[in-house]
Amino acid sequence: MMFDPAAESMQPSERASVQGERLTSLVRYLHEHVPFYRERLEEAGIKPDEDLSVDDLPRMPVTTKDDLRNNYPFGLLAVPTGELARVHASSGTTGKPTVVAYTAADLDLFAQVVARCLAMGGARPHMVLHNAYGYGLFTGGLGVHAGAERLHMAVVPASAGMTERQLTLISDLKPQVIAATPSYALTLAQAFRERGISPDAISLDYALLGAEPWTESMRAEIDSSLAVRSTNLYGLSEIIGPGVAGECVEVREGSHVNEDHFFPEVVDPGTGEVLADGQEGVLVITTLTKQALPLLRYRTGDITALSRGTCACGRTLVTMAPVKGRADDMLIVRGVNVYPTQVGDILARVPTFSPHFQLVVTREATLDVLEVRVEVTEEYARSITAEVLSQDVIEADHTLREQRAQAARLLRETIGLSTTVTLVAPGGTPRSEGGKLQRVEDRRHVS
Ligand SMILES: [Zn+2]
Repeated sequence: MMFDPAAESMQPSERASVQGERLTSLVRYLHEHVPFYRERLEEAGIKPDEDLSVDDLPRMPVTTKDDLRNNYPFGLLAVPTGELARVHASSGTTGKPTVVAYTAADLDLFAQVVARCLAMGGARPHMVLHNAYGYGLFTGGLGVHAGAERLHMAVVPASAGMTERQLTLISDLKPQVIAATPSYALTLAQAFRERGISPDAISLDYALLGAEPWTESMRAEIDSSLAVRSTNLYGLSEIIGPGVAGECVEVREGSHVNEDHFFPEVVDPGTGEVLADGQEGVLVITTLTKQALPLLRYRTGDITALSRGTCACGRTLVTMAPVKGRADDMLIVRGVNVYPTQVGDILARVPTFSPHFQLVVTREATLDVLEVRVEVTEEYARSITAEVLSQDVIEADHTLREQRAQAARLLRETIGLSTTVTLVAPGGTPRSEGGKLQRVEDRRHVS
């Protein structure tokens, strides 16, 4: 079912002309109401009276997270604060949060695009939705809530946490749909298992999961442990919150972007050059219709690729591949792109390895060397020695030597890069400091 079939299955040529008109109005609006953009547009030689199409976007300025931070809290607003209906904020890893603001019309758009995505993921009017996204400054909880109401669902505003109570609510209220982060869906699945409740006994049919990158192996585990079909719900607060894109339950091979409101481009992480469909790069989004905080070419930092064509679900919206990681975290080693999340997925397949690891890149002569440092699990460490696990003990242990070789082989086959895998004792790699995990140490530029 489509929430808005006219928009979601519109002919691409017709949609392109709608997008062009909206972009033309947006540029005029930014020029008039946001000094920051007026200056940037003038520098780029874009006149407010030009008739534009989305093909003109590559010559327009890009907006970054730093631009939002530097204009904290309301420097990029296009309306007076008196016209705002709501403000959300995302936690900053350094210093101040990023503040995003909505007019009443923006909230109406927010509800509409989330309703579209919920319907993509299998939700229907009159179903019950258990909303385990956090309510509060985070856009997830209230965003999904309003979208579900717009779709005429009954919402249980469970928010995140208090897992025991969530199990009781799900068992008693029998929702067909759940919205949560994928990691929290796994927590709930684990808790159901511990209570001895089998997947068949859980009422849920559909799970809409987002707000963090996840993998096909997590999807398989969530599908089987909750007996659902799970789909990705993509968004970010700077653009609007959830509702930017969603996976259709029929195909589940990437998310359909609500491109009549959020126009996506994929650019080269280094040069910023726009890439062709199918090529992987950083997702950049222009909000075509927002009032309070419209953003031109906002660099999301998420790594993905776009593809076009009519999906089996009937939608003609452009599709974005599952997010592979963050551009900020990407490493280029001997010409190969390496994402820490990808390495983590591979290491997770080795039973004696803990989830804690670190990547260290060095340069020997002219050759880059990638060292993957991974901790042995506490459990395995205890099983081989009562002492603190020393490097000598690691080298002497047959199982660890074998699994280290297995990890190196998996990394070579999957990423296409030879690595040095080093096993370290529990606690031997850095933990997150101030919320930001230092997974990568690049020593190539240190002289
Ligand atoms: Zn589809």
